[in-house]
Amino acid sequence: MRSVLITGTNRGLGLGMVKYLTEHAKPSKIIATCRKTSEELSKLSEANKNITIMHLDVTNIGSYGEFATQIAKIVGNQGLNLLINNAGVTTKFTKLGLVKAEQLMDNLTVNTVAPIMLTKSLLPLLKQAADSNSGLPMGAQRAAIVNMSSILGSIAQNKDGGFYPYRCSKAALNAATKSMSLDLKKDMILVASMHPGWVNTDMGGKNAPLDVPTSVSGIFKTIDNLGEADTGKFLQYDGSELPW
Ligand code: NDP
Repeated sequence: MRSVLITGTNRGLGLGMVKYLTEHAKPSKIIATCRKTSEELSKLSEANKNITIMHLDVTNIGSYGEFATQIAKIVGNQGLNLLINNAGVTTKFTKLGLVKAEQLMDNLTVNTVAPIMLTKSLLPLLKQAADSNSGLPMGAQRAAIVNMSSILGSIAQNKDGGFYPYRCSKAALNAATKSMSLDLKKDMILVASMHPGWVNTDMGGKNAPLDVPTSVSGIFKTIDNLGEADTGKFLQYDGSELPW
């Protein structure tokens, strides 16, 4: 895989993914986007010349056109192999009696609207990668989109209720994954939703059983093994399939 773009890489799973790629897959271009560069991301990019940090607030959808133009210059005529829509927010423990419209709108904007609109903006570059690797089967080596979802977005697995903003935004993201997978099959672009497990990050909290390196290495091993039969699936970091 030559190029990977990940959103929300200044901390948490996004940062862990950038780190993993520098140590393992070593793509020639890692485009790490964030709102504000963290010290850790900055150090990583100083030590690894294949990292390009790009500033992107995913709620600034009006900036996506210019952003895509910049990315096109970075990836060149080989296009973009892998887009990971990782940036996300959550409003925790929101019960029906307490939920606010702004919480629903905020979660929906970052977790659903942004991944759809960013994918739309970067689609020509993903198609370029799929076309320029026509000898390869469908998969991340050729062209793929991974939407970072959550088990909390699974309607089948919802046994506790609540979490209205987050659950609804990730269920809607899952619906987008399915549609993208159907729409982009003819272009040989693979699309999957990924649950990273419950991971010890700012979002997952200190009680989470998984650390970032374990989740991230599972995520990339899973991504590496994806083929045509997997497009449109909802997967967990360890490769197992989840119910919608
Ligand atoms: P963190 O809260 O640790 O990190 C979230 C990342 O998203 C940060 O880099 C943050 O940047 C970025 N982000 C938030 N809003 C924006 C925005 N408007 N524009 C650009 N970037 C933004 O979360 P995790 O690393 O744990 O989560 C990563 C993904 O995995 C999310 O999509 C999450 O929903 C999903 N997930 C996580 C689980 C877990 O247990 N940790 C479980 C299931 C799913 P900034 O520092 O600027 O806010």
